Amino acid sequence: MAVFNVLEAVNRSCDKHGDFTDQRYRFGWTGCQACMAERREAEDRERIAQQQADWERARLQNLFRRSAIPPRFEDRSLENYSADLPGQAKALAIAKQYAATFDESEGVSLIFCGGVGSGKTHLSIGIAKELMRGNRSALFMSVMGAVRSVKETWRNSDVSEREALQNLIDPDLLILDEVGVQFGSDTEKLILFEIINGRYENRRSTIVISNLAIDALTQYLGERVVDRLREGGGKLVVFDWPSFRRRAA
Ligand SMILES: [Zn+2]
Repeated sequence: MAVFNVLEAVNRSCDKHGDFTDQRYRFGWTGCQACMAERREAEDRERIAQQQADWERARLQNLFRRSAIPPRFEDRSLENYSADLPGQAKALAIAKQYAATFDESEGVSLIFCGGVGSGKTHLSIGIAKELMRGNRSALFMSVMGAVRSVKETWRNSDVSEREALQNLIDPDLLILDEVGVQFGSDTEKLILFEIINGRYENRRSTIVISNLAIDALTQYLGERVVDRLREGGGKLVVFDWPSFRRRAA
């Protein structure tokens, strides 16, 4: 006998949907059809939500992988930045505001200046993470790494210099770490200028991190570059409190 033949039909009442005809098949009674449809819809909704959560996770993982944030900084966020000192609280407030208004203020940059270990990297990565959650792309690079990625194309024909520059210009946010660490040849400064200027022209935001004081940084980058970084409300944040590492020691 076929599985889908109705063997028996009885009128019943569902507490929720009222009268219905219950049908018995080989596998048993169907129960209220409206209840069954609701269950199926709930299962569909759950499956779709699960799928979306999976995609979301994969998307975020992909953005994170492409951000090149070093594993040792992976856990840095705006939530776990300690803001005990007034200067830290102010820097955190600026970082939060920057992340929250990023979409409306495209192309606005930040300069984080100050001593080693004062949390400049932490805050900038916290900003990057906030933006990636909002589906923005970010890239974390030391100046040395960024310059090297361009210079390497001079020997390697797989990637053109233009493409290497474009890779540094494309991300919604570029964090340039260790600006001014080394003296820097004219070539390096020229590449750095091309990166920052290229981003400026494409209305892309850059966070420049430097251990130098602003005067020395301005001397290093040139006034024109610093002006571009500060245009349209770009802020200079001076991290002038003692190092976390030193204080912990
Ligand atoms: Zn029902």
